[in-house]
Amino acid sequence: MKSSNSNNWAIDCQCPQCGSPAVLDETDRIFTCPYCRVRLCVTTPDFFRYVVAAPLSIKNPIYIPYWRLKGAFFSCVPFQVNHAIVDSTQVAYALKGLPFTLGLRPQVLKLSFASPEQGRFVMPGISSAEALEMIEATRERVDSAADVFSKGQVKAKSAAKPFFKTYTGEAMSVIYAPMRLEGGMLYDAVLNRPVTQAVSEEFPPPVTFGAPVFVPTLCPNCGQDLSGEKQTLVLICNNCQSAWQVDKGALSEVGYAAAPCVEEAVYLPFWKMKVRFDGIALRSYADLARTANIPRAIRTEWEDEESVFWSPAFKIAPQLFLRLSEQATFLKPPVMQSDKADMKRAYPVTLPLSEGAESVKMSLAAFAANKKEILPRLASVTTNMESALLVYLPFVKRSNDFVHPELGFGINANSLTTALNL
Ligand SMILES: [Zn+2]
Ligand SMILES: [Zn+2]
Repeated sequence: MKSSNSNNWAIDCQCPQCGSPAVLDETDRIFTCPYCRVRLCVTTPDFFRYVVAAPLSIKNPIYIPYWRLKGAFFSCVPFQVNHAIVDSTQVAYALKGLPFTLGLRPQVLKLSFASPEQGRFVMPGISSAEALEMIEATRERVDSAADVFSKGQVKAKSAAKPFFKTYTGEAMSVIYAPMRLEGGMLYDAVLNRPVTQAVSEEFPPPVTFGAPVFVPTLCPNCGQDLSGEKQTLVLICNNCQSAWQVDKGALSEVGYAAAPCVEEAVYLPFWKMKVRFDGIALRSYADLARTANIPRAIRTEWEDEESVFWSPAFKIAPQLFLRLSEQATFLKPPVMQSDKADMKRAYPVTLPLSEGAESVKMSLAAFAANKKEILPRLASVTTNMESALLVYLPFVKRSNDFVHPELGFGINANSLTTALNL
C-alpha cells in the first residue's frame, strides 16, 4: 500500500486491536483498520517519533534524531510580508560529521513508530526552533546566492533584516536514523559508511519515551461515534453537538459553531480568536478597520465592537492563508450554532489553534495600510489569546470555487486539494 500523497511519508504500523499490518500517512490522525474496521485516534503526549528500520545484521543500533518540519515561514520585512514553504529534515543533535538533513531517504525507506526497545535512542539536543533557524539560514544563503547569480549583485531585499518572523507548522516530528558504533566511530547503518569519529562507547546516555496512544473515536460525552476525515485534529459528535480535539494523548472538548446553509455546502473550519494586544491600540473593530484602511466608512457602533481575528484552521498555501484570514476578519461571518449543518461535509481541521494564534501578528502586518508606520512597531507588540472558537463556515460550489453564500468570499477548489497535499 502506498501513501496517498507523495509529499507525505508512509508509516508502517500494526492495528492495536487485531495486530494486522497497516499503513498510516504521517498526517493521519485517525486510524481505520482495513481488517477488523476498528477506528482509533492516533495521538502522542509530545511529538511523534518515527524510526528508519536498521538492517537486521546491525546489533544494538544507535538512533540519531532528525527534526521533520513542514509548514510556512512568514517574515515581516521593510515593508511587506514574505513567505516560504518549509518541508525539510534537520539534524537534531550536535555531533561533528552528522549529515545536516536526511535528504530523500524517509521517502524511500520504511518508517515506523519508534519504541525504546529497538535500540539506543539519542534525545534531540537541538530544539525544533533552533532547527528552523538553521533551515531558514540555509534557505536565505541559497536565495542570495541565486540573486548574485541572476543579477550580479545581492539585491537589497535579501539584506533587509526582518522586523519579526513566525512559523506556522503543520507537522513536527522526530525521525530516527540508524547508526552503528564500531571502534569509536559512528557508521551510517543503511549506507554503511562512517559519519563521525571519536564517540565514547557509552554514547548515548539511555533514554525512554512514550509510544503513540490510540484512543477510541467515541464521544466522551454520549458514547456515539465521532465523525471526521482521517487527517483531522478535531472530531465532531453529531449526536450531542460537541467537538473534540485529539491533543496530547487524549480527547479534549473544544467550543465550536456551525452556521446553517440552505444549499448543499462544504464546511471549512476557521479559528475565531479574541486577542489582546500589548504595545498597540487595537481594541475595537473600528481600530482594526482604520489600521487596514478598509474601503467603507467607519460606523460609530464599530467603536464598541470588540476586535476579533480569524484564521483558517486548515493547511493552505501561505498567500491564501493570509488572504482568507483578512477576508474573514473584515467580513465578520455570522456565527450561530445549528444542528442543521451537515458535519459529515466538514473539511478536516489540520491547523491547530496554537498555529492560528501564532499567525495573528503576521495577518495584522499583511493587512496594515500604512506598513512603514505599523511594521517596525509590531516587533515589540505582544498578543494574548483571551478566547477562541472553532467555526465551520459554509461554502457552496460555484463552478471552480467554493464561495461563502452570503459574504461572497471564497477559494478555488483546486487550492483546497493542493492544500490537502501541502
Ligand atoms: Zn484491526
Ligand atoms: Zn456526543
